[in-house]
Formats: sequence, C-alpha cells, structure tokens
Amino acid sequence: MSAPLGTTLRIAIAGAGMGGLATALALARNGFTQIHVYETASNLGFVGAGIQVAPNLSRQLQRLGVWDYMAADAVALEEASVRASANDEELTNVKLDHVAERYGQPHRVAHRSALANALYEGCKAAAPHITFHFSTAIVGVDFGGHRIQIRERHEAGEGRWVEVDVILGADGVKSVIRKWMLAVHGEEDHAEDTGQAAYRIMLRREQLLHDPALLAMVDSNSSFRWIGARRHIIAYPISNHTIFNISTTQPDVNFAAEPTATWTTRADKSTMLKVYFDFCPSVMRMLGLVTESEVCEWKLRVHHPLKTWVEGNVALLGDACHPTLPHLGQGASQAIEDGAVLAVVLSKLTSTEDIHRCLLVYERLRKARTEFLVKQAAASGQDLHLTDPAAQALRDEAFRQVKHGGANPDKWLDRTVQDFVYGFDCVDNAEKYYEQYFTELAERE
Ligand SMILES: Cc1cc2nc3c(=O)[nH]c(=O)nc-3n(C[C@H](O)[C@H](O)[C@H](O)COP(=O)(O)OP(=O)(O)OC[C@H]3O[C@@H](n4cnc5c(N)ncnc54)[C@H](O)[C@@H]3O)c2cc1C
Repeated sequence: MSAPLGTTLRIAIAGAGMGGLATALALARNGFTQIHVYETASNLGFVGAGIQVAPNLSRQLQRLGVWDYMAADAVALEEASVRASANDEELTNVKLDHVAERYGQPHRVAHRSALANALYEGCKAAAPHITFHFSTAIVGVDFGGHRIQIRERHEAGEGRWVEVDVILGADGVKSVIRKWMLAVHGEEDHAEDTGQAAYRIMLRREQLLHDPALLAMVDSNSSFRWIGARRHIIAYPISNHTIFNISTTQPDVNFAAEPTATWTTRADKSTMLKVYFDFCPSVMRMLGLVTESEVCEWKLRVHHPLKTWVEGNVALLGDACHPTLPHLGQGASQAIEDGAVLAVVLSKLTSTEDIHRCLLVYERLRKARTEFLVKQAAASGQDLHLTDPAAQALRDEAFRQVKHGGANPDKWLDRTVQDFVYGFDCVDNAEKYYEQYFTELAERE
C-alpha cells in the first residue's frame, strides 16, 4: 500500500518490544520509508516464556506477512481445562474447535521469542525502510518542537536532538514518554501495584519423559489452569510440543519490599515451591522439575486509564498506555493491534498539519477496546483468585454450568469475551471509521 506521505514522514519509535516491532513493520508495509526504532537494550533479549497467539493476533501476523516465520513453533489448542488446585478436579473443559470456525484462526500458543523473532525478521526484510538503533535510549521529547533527544549507551553527555515528524512511545509499562506526556499536563505518573507477581518457567519435554501424566500434557493440544485462593497456574505446550510452558500468578512478596527495583528477576525455586505447597501432586511434581537457575519472576503492574494517549505529534501504544494483566493473554496482541491501526491512520495523511488529529483518530479507535480488556483481565484474576469458600463454591458451580451455556468465570474462555476480542479486525475497523472520526474531530476544532 502506498501512503501519500510514505517517503517523507520521519517516524521515531521508542522501544523494540512487541508493540514497537509490529508498529515499525506495519508502517513499512503501508509504504513508509523513514522509520527509526530506538531501543535501550543492546538486542531484542526477550525473556523465555510462552505467549498466547489468539485469532486476533494471528490475523495481524498473517497480514504483516510474518506468520510463516513462527508457524512451526506454534501449537493450536483444542481444549482448555480449568481445575481445582487442591485436588485436580476438572471444573470445566472447554473445547476450542469453535474458535477456528467462528474467528477464522485457531487459538494458538507459542514461544515468546518465536513471535519477537518473526516480527524482527519481517522488519529486517523491510530494510532499508526500518533502521534499528540498539543501545540507544530516547532521553527527551520536545512535544511542541517535534524533536527527540537520543543517547547511545556509551555516549557521554546529554545526548543529541533529532528532528522527526511523529513520535510513537512503545516503551512499555515503565514508559518515560508517558511520564513526560503527563508532566505536560502537570500530572504525575503512577504505575499501579497490583500486588501480584508471576513466575515464568519452561520445562523441556525430555524432563517429563519419566512422568506419563506430565508427558501426556506436553504432548496434548490442551491448556491447563489450576486455580486456588490468591494464586493460579496456567500451563500449555509450545515450540511444537518440545517445551511445557508454565506461568503462575501469586501475591507479590519478593518485589513488594523493593518497589523501585527491577520488575523481572531470577527467582528462588524453594520459595516458589512454598508458595504453591497446597497445590495437587501433579502440579508439585511439575514445579519440582524446574531447574533452579531457570525460575524467573515478573512483577505485575498496571496503570490507571490515561485521559489521553496523544500530545502534539506524540502517541503512546502498547503497555505504555494500557498495561494489562496476563489473565486474558492479550497484552502483546493489543500492542500489535495498536501498531496495525497506527499504520492505517498514518497512511491516510496527506499533510503533516494533520498528524495530531490523525493520532487522535488512532486513540479513538483503540482506547475503549483496550481499556475494556484491561478491566476484563483484572476481573478474571479476581474470580480466579477468590478466597471466600462460599464465593469459590458459587464460582466453581458456574464453571460446571459452562457446558450448559453459562458464562465462564475464566473470561479468557468466555464466548462473549471471545467474540469481542477475537471477532474484531482492528484494521478493517480503522479503515471503516477513519474518515468519520477524522471529520468529527475536525468539526470540533
Ligand atoms: C507474566 C506475563 C505474561 C504475559 N503473557 C502474555 C500472553 O500470553 N499474551 C500476550 O499477548 N501478552 C502477554 N503478556 C503481556 C505482554 O508481554 C506485554 O503486553 C507486551 O510485551 C507489551 O509490549 P510493548 O511493546 O508495549 O512493551 P515491552 O515489550 O515492554 O517493550 C518496551 C521496550 O521499550 C524499551 N524502552 C523502554 N524505555 C525506552 C527508552 N526510553 N528508549 C528506548 N527504548 C526504551 C524497552 O527496553 C523494551 O524493549 C504477559 C505479560 C506478563 C508480565
């Protein structure tokens, strides 16, 4: 596709995470040729973990032309089992064959690095239109003057200013661009502590060979969620069934004492085993197999909804503006959808005078959807982690009633939520509403 300002618009992206990579690639595929991605880290360096590739994400990956890079890694889920943590009782088993029929793509799971590498390969194939600047942080933004200040890791001094037309802040949950944007309005930036943390662990299939029950799980096309008071664990096979990916959520104890410390850390296996001491034997066998040095813990933080994601010619995307708890498996997907929509709206531009309004159209296309999902993910976590026995009994009965058409307390598996999340094509939607929203915004000015 050829954007009218494709060869002239200078676009700077802060961050080469899932959102930044997808945005760069979507822009290049829409005809932009001056895309610069600045990344503090020296390389992509993604933490080893699984990621859910729901239909709304695979649709975008196919559109971006990168699906083939990761197809071999992905596992298509056929069913999802939700179980009581104490005794392994299956509370509900949801067949997922309807997903491909209803949304055109199965529900897949994959290695996080397979997704990141697919996006990166796509970006490299778009050379010379995308330039990566690793070990280079954006250290300042001139919101009125359309400039960014960048500093390479070993560079002395304050860095240098670079003129750009559009600045996209894909700098994650700890976004400094969000902080500076809020400061323009005299507001302070407060990331919210959710009081939750997550262990991310991966077992290789060879580690499970001696345990027929665990081996059957990694060889299956199923996900398994064990729920208990204040905690849950989800596990599924990735990397063509060679890895069993395990992700937990529990009260944050380790990070709570050091609120400003790093949000990802190597964790202690014995502490993890103590946290899950009352989970059923199969879970404890699974956790017991984890190699000591391979336990990684993430602090889970969110941010209260922002009044706006846009200031001047600067817009936020991904975790910078809608960090989402992992219980819906949609954080990266929504960051990637943001990138796809940004590419659509910017490709409509015929004058740099309209950049700000165009970014406001992007915000209008994306904000309500992502904020709804932030709330759904938080609500799902609350339902999964109930502590009151009476409330737990009601929830578990609701799980049993799912097969009779009841709502699923695990919103990830609920049909109404799936319709909203998976049945939506963000690019078609942006194409449909761009002109209307652009005109409405112009009339209000
Ligand atoms: C435990 C856990 C499990 C999850 N599971 C899933 C899942 O199954 N499915 C799913 O879709 N999502 C999942 N997510 C969410 C997902 O990981 C995030 O939503 C997603 O990675 C956000 O992408 P992003 O590009 O917005 O931010 P990030 O991936 O955080 O990338 C931000 C990048 O910006 C860089 N950066 C920061 N500041 C600067 C600067 N000043 N200058 C230059 N670069 C900068 C950083 O180094 C980083 O590389 C999970 C999250 C957690 C914590």
